[in-house]
Amino acid sequence: MRISSHVISTFPLIILTYAFTKSVQCVLGVSITLLVDTVHWLEFWHDNGLEFKLKKFFTFCNQGACNRFFLLLHSYELLILLFVLYRKAFFSLFWLGMILGLSLHLLLDYLNIFLVRHYKWYSFILFFFTFRLFYRFKREAIDRRIGPVGVASHAQTG
Ligand SMILES: [Zn+2]
Repeated sequence: MRISSHVISTFPLIILTYAFTKSVQCVLGVSITLLVDTVHWLEFWHDNGLEFKLKKFFTFCNQGACNRFFLLLHSYELLILLFVLYRKAFFSLFWLGMILGLSLHLLLDYLNIFLVRHYKWYSFILFFFTFRLFYRFKREAIDRRIGPVGVASHAQTG
């Protein structure tokens, strides 16, 4: 999903979070998940070499033409870790905010690849880090497993 769409869709969650919790800590937790897509720099650098041109980076992200699915912060495993922090660590409302924000982010990314990019219905498994690791993050191999049937890969996912 486009980074700008994530920003727009997270804004109502920020307002709802504050309305229900009255917690700045929780709002910060949700807000920080706006940075989840910054990990796409890894895919960008993998395919283009180390460069820092923002315009080229955003074009790359919006086209979704990457050869690797690192997607390091797009992980259910990270959600589990955040849940443990929510239950066991200080600043529990901050971690709760991150759980809410990351859950929304993953849901929107899944809806994008399923409804817009026509990946298979079970393509939500893409967001298991262990699934991507199993395929060594290779997009071509992952697309063969969960991607659209008979369509060339390079659909936008993150
Ligand atoms: Zn994303």
